[in-house]
Amino acid sequence: MLEYDIVIVGAGPAGSAAALKAASEGKKVLVIERGPEPGSKNVSGAEVRKDYITSVFGEGMPYERTVDTMKLSLYEKDKPVNIDFHPEGLVTTGRLKLDKWLSSVSEQAGATIIPKTTALKLNWENGIAKSLTTDRGDVAAKSFVLAEGVNALVSMNSGINVDWTPSNSVQAVKMVYSIKKGDLNNIFGFPDDDTGMSWRMIMSDPLVAGFMYTYKDSLAVGIGSPIKELVDRKIRPEALLDKFLETTGIAEKVKGYSLREYSAKVIPEGGFPETNVAKGNVYLCGDAIGLVDPLTFDGITPAIASGTLAGEAAVMNYDKEVYRYNLMKHPEISKIAKERKLESDFMTSNKAGEYINMVSSLLEGWAAGDLIGIRNTMVGNYRNIIPDLMSFVMRMR
Ligand SMILES: Cc1cc2nc3c(=O)[nH]c(=O)nc-3n(C[C@H](O)[C@H](O)[C@H](O)COP(=O)(O)OP(=O)(O)OC[C@H]3O[C@@H](n4cnc5c(N)ncnc54)[C@H](O)[C@@H]3O)c2cc1C
Repeated sequence: MLEYDIVIVGAGPAGSAAALKAASEGKKVLVIERGPEPGSKNVSGAEVRKDYITSVFGEGMPYERTVDTMKLSLYEKDKPVNIDFHPEGLVTTGRLKLDKWLSSVSEQAGATIIPKTTALKLNWENGIAKSLTTDRGDVAAKSFVLAEGVNALVSMNSGINVDWTPSNSVQAVKMVYSIKKGDLNNIFGFPDDDTGMSWRMIMSDPLVAGFMYTYKDSLAVGIGSPIKELVDRKIRPEALLDKFLETTGIAEKVKGYSLREYSAKVIPEGGFPETNVAKGNVYLCGDAIGLVDPLTFDGITPAIASGTLAGEAAVMNYDKEVYRYNLMKHPEISKIAKERKLESDFMTSNKAGEYINMVSSLLEGWAAGDLIGIRNTMVGNYRNIIPDLMSFVMRMR
């Protein structure tokens, strides 16, 4: 049987960060990836914080466009309230290129990556995992990192975590359209091929968190909506996506361009700190412990942050409480844990509608020149939700 110090399942952002950390500490590290190459199971793109990724993986991250403008639209029925701002350090990137690059950095640090191999189960003796069974044989290790993403089958097989249920999950649907660089620049008024934008939309009835990102020569658009609400109200995700494209005017922008990709994925609404993060010598990270933010879709930074900590835990053979403590005190991860309450509040349509109504009535008061009216409405109707709303808007950065 092959033997390593540390075996990692999954060559996504979390797995590559764990591999980089453990290999940099001189450990013999193996990464098992079921796709033909890292990123091939994550073909679409994302918006990421370049500075954070560079701080962990070094210079050279491949990216598509710099996010020069971020637009936030809150829809009350079909009418949006729009806020535009200019964030720093955000870029769009293709997952295939990004994941391949992250994995290549861990390889340069000494990790071995084996693609086209699916991890099936861990084999335990007295609470300690001794080996991992894959579809191509078994491999033994002193510790293991499960960075297998949201469908965390090995973790579930080992009884570390249970599956996400419809009551605590968001259904995400994403489409990518091919649009030539020049056309894309014309549609959005970009001065050059590096400038790009991202657009976040919130609709309240039913609750939809939407996004649109521009890449070099394509555009991604997607939505997420709580599964429970879709089921209760018998709404099909495809129908919701169509309505979203019409309401936002994106349908008109992409008319005549070819659809390159269509994917659907479940995002857990809950997650860390409620989830188990380790068992014996097995440490979980990234989406496997539900670290993605279901409203802002920010998942790659916390995946990398937790992957680095899981790699360290595997090297040091930390007790699970030490690993949990380290996760809790990491700013990128504690932020998500603290936001759970705000998000679970927001994930109920009435609350989202309340926030959006508040912003609309504020602006209507402004348009009518009725500043005293604004004050009375804010103090009378919305005093209790303003701090939550401000926290939410600040997170959009
Ligand atoms: C629609 C949508 C849009 C998003 N947009 C953004 C965005 O713009 N910005 C952002 O930061 N985040 C975004 N996210 C979230 C982000 O994609 C995830 O949070 C992030 O990919 C988590 O990284 P990970 O390494 O934990 O898991 P993953 O990226 O899912 O990687 C897991 C890896 O493990 C492999 N694997 C799984 N099971 C096995 C197995 N049994 N054996 C071997 N290999 C296995 C998979 O093939 C995969 O390569 C989005 C998510 C969705 C659904």
